Amino acid sequence: MYDFIIIGGGIVGMSTAMQLLQAFPERKVLVIEKENRLAEHQTGHNSGVIHAGVYYTPGSLKAKFCLEGNRATRAFCDHHGIPYDACGKLLVATSELEMTRMQALWERTEANGLEREWLSAGELKEREPNITGLGGIFVPSSGIVDYRAVTEAMGREFRALGGEIRFGCRVSAIQELSSEVRVKTGQETFATRHLISCSGLMADRIVRMLGIDPGFRICPFRGEYYRLKPEHNQIVNHLIYPIPDPSMPFLGVHLTRMIDGSVTVGPNAVLAWKREGYRKTDISLRDSLETLGYPGILKVLKQNLKPGLAELKNSLFKAGYLEQVRKYCPSIEKADLLPYPAGVRAQAVSKDGRLVDDFLFVNSARTINVCNAPSPAATSALPIGRHILETAIGRFDLGTPAHAA
Ligand SMILES: Cc1cc2nc3c(=O)[nH]c(=O)nc-3n(C[C@H](O)[C@H](O)[C@H](O)COP(=O)(O)OP(=O)(O)OC[C@H]3O[C@@H](n4cnc5c(N)ncnc54)[C@H](O)[C@@H]3O)c2cc1C
Repeated sequence: MYDFIIIGGGIVGMSTAMQLLQAFPERKVLVIEKENRLAEHQTGHNSGVIHAGVYYTPGSLKAKFCLEGNRATRAFCDHHGIPYDACGKLLVATSELEMTRMQALWERTEANGLEREWLSAGELKEREPNITGLGGIFVPSSGIVDYRAVTEAMGREFRALGGEIRFGCRVSAIQELSSEVRVKTGQETFATRHLISCSGLMADRIVRMLGIDPGFRICPFRGEYYRLKPEHNQIVNHLIYPIPDPSMPFLGVHLTRMIDGSVTVGPNAVLAWKREGYRKTDISLRDSLETLGYPGILKVLKQNLKPGLAELKNSLFKAGYLEQVRKYCPSIEKADLLPYPAGVRAQAVSKDGRLVDDFLFVNSARTINVCNAPSPAATSALPIGRHILETAIGRFDLGTPAHAA
């Protein structure tokens, strides 16, 4: 019998697993992951940005955990010798409408307690000669890292503390009883006192296995990227972001310096026909039917028909994609955009047709389930793991954690 089983070897699952054993080194903890290594899905297919916390509603979990996570991620990397670069980020306004939106963002960054600088068009040009705009906000605490490397370090720490990871093991059924939880995989059934699900794109399916109506469904959104030709690796000194449309949940196509020295352009946001499908042509009948058969998702699609179709067009035609980045970086040419692997975001959509904005957890007597952990959840993984640990201490009879004893 395990004390805890954690489903999911992404960054949220591994952060939680590591912190559980740091707090309770005597407990028996198992991570179950269906792939053959850690970080195979969202954690290994993202922009690699250590977000500062610019966009999030003041007081939300996202705002709180992102701010804490920015510091915690850098401290974790320092401790484990993982390279990162605190290169800072520039938000660039290219129209009067965006200047107005930028003012609102400026106020939000103040409410979120961020250090930042307002830049005129001239100051922007001085810092970034290849970027054009009417003005910008500079946020020094944004950075870049390889989240796969961070997750692997968490995995090593977890195993060093006695934790166990089973790879290639897909959870297919769960039974929650009064005294234990039974977790069935293809090969075996495991018994555990408590279960924590950090299953990303499959979060709603795991909750349904527990017999709980989650009240939301995961809507998979592809995020497609290009990589710039290597001769453009020095084109920007910082991360360059457009001013986002506040009615849209995603941040807009940005220029991201990656930790390996390359520069990516993206990601966009288009509906995916397969939850864990990374090629444009990947289609799953089950996933598509589940997406289109959910009234909440249909409502979201209807409400966002125009921007949704524009994203689809830009996904199919490079020229449209290019236009978005040329708004603020006019020297980039079509031939500069090279292929780069896509990612798929897990975005929870409520029954009544809302994109769930904040991180969301659904609990039962013996389980804690992470149900909405989109960006900035990689940045926030350490505080999310600590939050889950505190929830477990509050809900389950675990005794006193080692660091409080
Ligand atoms: C395109 C894109 C760009 C992003 N950019 C950033 C960024 O720059 N900065 C940032 O902070 N965040 C970013 N994010 C968000 C971030 O990557 C995710 O929020 C984070 O990785 C979520 O981690 P996770 O552990 O919850 O999920 P995942 O990494 O998806 O892990 C879930 C794991 O659960 C496993 N699993 C699922 N079902 C089962 C089952 N039945 N049995 C066993 N195992 C199962 C999966 O195989 C998977 O390994 C981005 C995301 C995307 C897609």
